[in-house]
Amino acid sequence: MSLGWWVVGGSAVALLVLASRDAPAAKTKPPPRTLPQTDEERIATLTPEVQPEVRALLARAVELGFKPRVASARRTCAEQRDVFAQGRTRPGPVISGADGCRSFHVWGMAVDLSGVPPEGLKELGAWWRARGGVWGGSFNDPGHYEWHPNLKIEAICPDPARCEEAVENRNAVSGFRSDFSSPRKAPLFLV
Ligand SMILES: [Zn+2]
Repeated sequence: MSLGWWVVGGSAVALLVLASRDAPAAKTKPPPRTLPQTDEERIATLTPEVQPEVRALLARAVELGFKPRVASARRTCAEQRDVFAQGRTRPGPVISGADGCRSFHVWGMAVDLSGVPPEGLKELGAWWRARGGVWGGSFNDPGHYEWHPNLKIEAICPDPARCEEAVENRNAVSGFRSDFSSPRKAPLFLV
């Protein structure tokens, strides 16, 4: 409400006027980050130097006659904890060997592909490794491809107890937003 003054017949009259439109605007909050829906949107979540490598990987898969999709790219630490929990503290097969922030998905340096049969993943894996990438086939995760030449997880996250903080700091520098609105409810595209 606001107080307005009107001059009526020479006298000033104060009136209370309902003026909800005058209310101060609610503090603007950035909208929740929506999950990437397309391959290109997923690739865009990756660390910049990794993006062209993943595009080259997809192009190679197409060249080999497959129809690859990027099933998963960057994840938050919370999403990765959820993925790691499958087959351990909740039902389903084990689909990941890395917990929390200690997966290269969290650092924007890994993708999972779908749409490629096992023999194709293997062929792509050999090609990827020859270029300098890490293929998940060597740890029972053939759809998983990492790109971080000469970089070990210990170098970017030396203290596992403070890994989340390291991720936040790195994301703040890169401008990546990790505040997914509801990671548990979000569909997880995994292979
Ligand atoms: Zn993966």
